[in-house]
Amino acid sequence: MPLATPDVRRHNLGLVLGRVLEGAGEARADIAGATGLSRGAVTSLVAELIDAGLVEESDVVAPAGMGRPRTTLTLAAAAPCVLIALLDADHATAVAGTLAGEELARTSRSHGRPMGDPAAIVGVLADALDDVAGRMAAAGRRIADVCVVVWAPVGGTPVRVLADTDLAWGEVDLLGLLRARSTALAAFERAGGEPRLVSDAEVAALAEHAAVGGATLLYLKADSGIGGAVVLAAGDDSGARVLLPAALGHLPVVPDGVRCACGQCGCLVTVAGPDVLLARSGLGALAADEGLTVALEAFVTQVRTGDEPAASVWRGAAREIARTLQIVALTVAPDVIVLGGFVAALAADVDEMFRAIQPRIAHAPVLPVAPVLGSTLGADAALWGAQRDARLRLLADPLAI
Ligand SMILES: [Zn+2]
Repeated sequence: MPLATPDVRRHNLGLVLGRVLEGAGEARADIAGATGLSRGAVTSLVAELIDAGLVEESDVVAPAGMGRPRTTLTLAAAAPCVLIALLDADHATAVAGTLAGEELARTSRSHGRPMGDPAAIVGVLADALDDVAGRMAAAGRRIADVCVVVWAPVGGTPVRVLADTDLAWGEVDLLGLLRARSTALAAFERAGGEPRLVSDAEVAALAEHAAVGGATLLYLKADSGIGGAVVLAAGDDSGARVLLPAALGHLPVVPDGVRCACGQCGCLVTVAGPDVLLARSGLGALAADEGLTVALEAFVTQVRTGDEPAASVWRGAAREIARTLQIVALTVAPDVIVLGGFVAALAADVDEMFRAIQPRIAHAPVLPVAPVLGSTLGADAALWGAQRDARLRLLADPLAI
């Protein structure tokens, strides 16, 4: 077998480009040291990446009177970029970023939440996408990847939104509708690109896993509904991970509870879903007038200051969230549990309840008890996760970027 098959070469190109993206001005020798590749191999791989317009050499830096000058490598100034579009309950947002994760352009527009009208919202999302794509074209940057993130479950072939309760959508072919409205998306597809459609909880979980570390992460996100995912490290140095989508909002945690829209009784969303908590706290009208984000911020503030009924409503919900986490934690034994969305700010309450209900045998927990942490990434977790996911996929075959 030849020493450097095309597969091995692709892998090594990804390793080298990954070091350039992660590193702060690495020289060829640094990359050889970090990757275990020979200096000659690194030199040849870097030459390919420079030819492809992905990497460039910086000016030679000679430290004052010390050592030999170094030539460091950075991502090329006009390297292709990644485009992420995010559709949430209130806004359509488009963000362009470099392969290294640096944000280049962003636009966010309120879509006014026209219930049950996908075409109206797709128009706003398409405008946001085309605006950011236009700025990238003006800067001479090609688009390497497009990912559309929704606050809803996705599935099917071709992939589509399965149902979005925030927007009163049933099954919607969002990419198909977007293709017809966005010139940037249509052009990306004509050039052979394959846009992706993903659920926010999945990509946000990837970002949390990268931020928090640990082998196994359990992620629960409550923003409009409740979703989640389990992330497992791949066990090698590829940075890859295994993502298991988890419909945490529909775990039936309340015996004989009220019927859920999904057909079961006592799902977590029926007792801890954001709309339920807002209605019970008298904040339903604020949500209708100012949007879900504003209403949930008011809810968190009231809980923190001990205002009733929000404080009692939250205590009940936190107990059910803790019970749900317990069921999953006893199944997958996570090293860490991260809460995203509005519950991030209230994670300490859930952590306390989660600890209090752990099963014990002879005073010892049945399994090591994972800490429950609030996300520190905020509303951008899904955007960063989508960006990171795009980068990992592009690094698998750098010359195809
Ligand atoms: Zn349900």
